[in-house]
Amino acid sequence: MGAERCAWVELLAAHALDALDRGELDGLEAHLRSRCAECEGELVRMRLEVEALAESPDPVAPPPLVRSRVLNAARPGLRSGGARGPRGSGE
Ligand SMILES: [Zn+2]
Repeated sequence: MGAERCAWVELLAAHALDALDRGELDGLEAHLRSRCAECEGELVRMRLEVEALAESPDPVAPPPLVRSRVLNAARPGLRSGGARGPRGSGE
């Protein structure tokens, strides 16, 4: 709360896209050399994201909740009192 974000953080994304002009690039590089912890952390985070995107061929996985609901729907009457139990067939 109340922590100010480093203004250069916003330029890091543009830097990753090679969208900075010469002056901005010089300024950003000088700022990174001053070892701003916030910018370094953001750089690491962005690098991990890019690597994750590159490594996973299918980034859209079904959430666990959907899976369990589908599995439940596939087994109706599993706990409904044994309508077709072995008992009751032998009079
Ligand atoms: Zn910074």
